[in-house]
Amino acid sequence: MLQFDELSYWEKTALTEGIDYAIVGGGIVGIATALHLREIYPNAKIVILERGYVSTGASTKNAGFACFGSVTELADDLKKMDETSVWNTVEMRWRGLQRLHERFPDSVIDLQLKGSWDLIASDETKTVPELSDQMQYFNAEIERITGFSSCFSYDTTIAEKAGFNGINGGFHNKLEGEIHTGKLLAASNLLLAKAGIICLFGVEVKTIQPGENEVLIETNYGELKSGKLAVTVNGFAQKLLNDQRIQPARAQVIVSSKMPGFELPGTFHYQQGYYYFRSIDNRLLLGGGRNLDFSGETTTEFENTSLIINTLEALMHNVILPGKDVTIDYKWSGIMGVGTEKKPLIEFIHPNVGIGVRMGGMGVAIGSLVGEELAELLK
Ligand SMILES: Cc1cc2nc3c(=O)[nH]c(=O)nc-3n(C[C@H](O)[C@H](O)[C@H](O)COP(=O)(O)OP(=O)(O)OC[C@H]3O[C@@H](n4cnc5c(N)ncnc54)[C@H](O)[C@@H]3O)c2cc1C
Repeated sequence: MLQFDELSYWEKTALTEGIDYAIVGGGIVGIATALHLREIYPNAKIVILERGYVSTGASTKNAGFACFGSVTELADDLKKMDETSVWNTVEMRWRGLQRLHERFPDSVIDLQLKGSWDLIASDETKTVPELSDQMQYFNAEIERITGFSSCFSYDTTIAEKAGFNGINGGFHNKLEGEIHTGKLLAASNLLLAKAGIICLFGVEVKTIQPGENEVLIETNYGELKSGKLAVTVNGFAQKLLNDQRIQPARAQVIVSSKMPGFELPGTFHYQQGYYYFRSIDNRLLLGGGRNLDFSGETTTEFENTSLIINTLEALMHNVILPGKDVTIDYKWSGIMGVGTEKKPLIEFIHPNVGIGVRMGGMGVAIGSLVGEELAELLK
């Protein structure tokens, strides 16, 4: 491929010179940042630099849950974080989902608000009374945030209804839903094109050198300059910025063969959210298992491991689809960005460079909002 300095006059003037805002990373957050900058600056030259031919992090690899918190997750968060932070994060997830809802018609991204269940295995039933007590408090907080009452309830019928094995019941969240992650990306690309935002795919940013008036961006095709820069590389932030507050966290996913007529009533979390599953196009989509090998999964390498894939397959056969003749048709991995705090980092690292990273497993929900906040910061 040609280096940037070998491009034609037309290419340079239209695409690579006079950039007002460059955004490194073309995931949900990078796209939302670019779109919001366009709302603020109708005439600015805004360029997304994405190293993959398609976004290559988490935004096109996730499970497509439109979720903001389950009972066991909230109970666990309250043990590790202060109350205000827990509910602020829930509120951010809820508001982010509303943004997604506003930006994309439900039918375009297949948004279905079918509800979710946080499953309790038969050998975990001793946890139910304490969690049920906490549920009243959770419902009050969710009502304060969303305006909807009785978000959570304990459902003892779900295992029978869905045909699960070894499950006592599940804490139902009536406000959560699911989307088609691929359709969200396709619809986002359309918005970027309509907004006149330039996307340069296959461009990997190697280093960033912020100056007083512009930022020098060293890439695999040579140098670019931009007035301001947004870094939205999430799980790759440690690699690019050497920022130790963000660790990569790989997550692996399988999708089963087709089962005619198969459809689950909503999305499911299992074992405190370490596993998650849903149906898609008469198939089961199942992910998780990072807890089996936290250190091995702290990586930016896209790979599936037999330890995790075999565990997911066993869960599929033994618990979710007992007795069904089903195999794995698809498997992949995605890279998230996590840290000691379960909240995103949106801040300046230089007066001309802002970052919006550390989305954890919440980026589908909060990504649009984080992009907006980063754009506001940089304006
Ligand atoms: C398996 C899985 C399941 C998940 N399920 C859910 C879910 O159900 N609900 C939910 O809310 N969240 C979920 N998440 C998390 C969610 O997908 C992420 O939080 C979100 O996609 C992060 O978006 P992002 O734009 O910050 O990062 P990314 O999507 O990772 O985008 C970063 C982009 O930066 C690019 N990049 C990196 N380095 C460079 C560089 N040097 N130069 C140029 N480009 C670069 C990458 O190629 C990538 O496209 C899940 C994640 C995974 C992996």
